[in-house]
Amino acid sequence: MFNLSEAKKSKAKLRLAIDGPSGSGKTYSALLIAYGITDDWSKIAVIDTERESANLYADLCNGDKKYLTGQINAPFTPKKYLDAIKVCEESGIEVIIIDSLTHAWTAEGGLLDIHDEAVKRQKTANTYTAWADVTPLHRKLVDAILTSPCHIICTVRSETEYAQEKDANGKTKVVKVGMKPQFRKGLDYEMTVVFSMGQDHLATINKSRINTFLVNDVIQPSKETGKKLLEWLNSGDDLPTCSDCGKPIQPFGDMNSIGVSLYTQRKYGRSLCSECAKKAKELDYKEITNTTEEIEDVLD
Ligand SMILES: [Zn+2]
Repeated sequence: MFNLSEAKKSKAKLRLAIDGPSGSGKTYSALLIAYGITDDWSKIAVIDTERESANLYADLCNGDKKYLTGQINAPFTPKKYLDAIKVCEESGIEVIIIDSLTHAWTAEGGLLDIHDEAVKRQKTANTYTAWADVTPLHRKLVDAILTSPCHIICTVRSETEYAQEKDANGKTKVVKVGMKPQFRKGLDYEMTVVFSMGQDHLATINKSRINTFLVNDVIQPSKETGKKLLEWLNSGDDLPTCSDCGKPIQPFGDMNSIGVSLYTQRKYGRSLCSECAKKAKELDYKEITNTTEEIEDVLD
């Protein structure tokens, strides 16, 4: 049954993607923004895939509190990311920096490798059907980011993209068309804000749901940026809490927190987070994709 209710903003957790070429200052910017949010280095954890590059900035923390880092090494399977996120969540961390998410896509053992393996197993040239093996894993990783009780900042490496064009004489030439973030297309739609870093260490706001961060504005990411983000995130009502685990109910797929709360209230007679709703039904998580029908199916 379909219900209408007044639109209202609830408190939210940050979902920020910072993309840019290597050397553009993604990790450094992520740390400063995270510190603006927590005002306490020890509440920040970096999931580091870049051979301990996160340790390079330890000097930022003057005082006895340091941010924490943990390493993911090859193969960069989505499962390793899920485990790492869980460890951070259970360690009282407030901001998780995933540095970088690109490894889960393009690096050894990442989603593109899993796709290649599936194509080989199929023994046909049809690469399209092999995505059936990849999409649920991709979805699970993105959902872990979107539903986390922590603020999450993902860095995404971008590379120069080229295209072929014909010049005035009909000759084919190769031209630069811009920077392409190295992760599965569509991530920007799921994030609250996307910053694109340039070699000048400045960030262009590429996507924003926040009225104090305007698309196309260029900013110098800093502790102040984090404070300003937090101000917006904290405006609005408290998130509804889960009756079973007591945690705030996070948005799930296309549904906002209130939507999940109302939905589970109707189905189970109590407000549940998506995790507890899953447990309540002992569902197989493998089949989840992002359409509303399928989400309803899972919460059913
Ligand atoms: Zn719960």
